[in-house]
Amino acid sequence: MSDSKGSTGLLDIKLHKPQSIEEAVKLLGDLEDAKLVAGGTDLLVDIKQGLITAKNLISLQNIQSLRGIWEETGKIWIGAMMTPKEIQTDSLINQHVPSLSDAARSIAATQIRSMATIGGNVASAVPSADMPPPLIAAEASGVLDCGTSREISLAEFFTGARETICGAAEVLASVWIPIPPPRTGSSYQKLALREANALAVVGVASQISLSGDKIAKANIVLGAVAPTPILALKASESLRGQRPSESLFEEAAYLAKQAAKPISDIRASAWYRKELIPILTRRSLDVAWVRVREQS
Ligand SMILES: Cc1cc2nc3c(=O)[nH]c(=O)nc-3n(C[C@H](O)[C@H](O)[C@H](O)COP(=O)(O)OP(=O)(O)OC[C@H]3O[C@@H](n4cnc5c(N)ncnc54)[C@H](O)[C@@H]3O)c2cc1C
Repeated sequence: MSDSKGSTGLLDIKLHKPQSIEEAVKLLGDLEDAKLVAGGTDLLVDIKQGLITAKNLISLQNIQSLRGIWEETGKIWIGAMMTPKEIQTDSLINQHVPSLSDAARSIAATQIRSMATIGGNVASAVPSADMPPPLIAAEASGVLDCGTSREISLAEFFTGARETICGAAEVLASVWIPIPPPRTGSSYQKLALREANALAVVGVASQISLSGDKIAKANIVLGAVAPTPILALKASESLRGQRPSESLFEEAAYLAKQAAKPISDIRASAWYRKELIPILTRRSLDVAWVRVREQS
């Protein structure tokens, strides 16, 4: 099928279906103008719109090692090919990282949630992507494979809008999240222009861990307000060693607003985005705190 503009149509592209990461990496190195495709919900749209070209697509669908969610060595591992639908219903994720379930549930609508993948959501590095903020708040790392594998904190993974440190011949194989200590709560709050099939205008993830009656650790991460997700350091630090309270969360929400560098685009003005940050930060902290109390 060639598109109406006569540019590269999807049927002009050769599809390859490797069975292993090694095979995929080899194809990436050998083939001209080759791209990885997971669920295709970002990439195929971009190709159809002529924003990206490819002569060869390397599908990750048949690689079984990219699937599964499991617990091992104090971490939750999520294969890169797991879909938002699988993530939102997974018991390990719901128990330990409900903010990631929130994010998965907020993506698009059922059809896209059944096709898209966490690997594609992270690797595409679109500033409004929903899963990176809760993953960074949970201190997740990604495993990159190009024959040998390396691990990188997702806080360092994103280098710009649609840019990452992932090399041209690397596959994001999985992400892992350290199992948070008891009395940890997390939440992801998003505002979009519609309830379904709409990218975030702003998304905020918060994770707090309590020790006694005080917050021992907190991470607040903002999405869609800069080229990359932002760990709001001052806001996060302001919570440490403090008892949760309305005024404490209010102050952290105000500090989070200072960390954002939003732009105006088709979805919202920079001003509107800035105004949303304290509201969504406050909401995410409130829900995270409720989730801590629900465990007691
Ligand atoms: C109607 C619609 C609504 C949407 N709504 C949302 C939304 O609400 N929130 C949201 O966050 N996103 C949304 N999206 C965007 C998209 O669905 C997600 O980002 C999705 O998670 C991308 O995953 P994928 O598997 O489809 O990626 P693909 O399209 O297959 O790939 C995307 C990019 O990542 C690369 N890639 C994929 N997997 C890997 C890997 N394992 N290793 C290295 N590189 C890889 C590809 O080469 C490509 O460059 C929407 C898209 C559509 C079409």
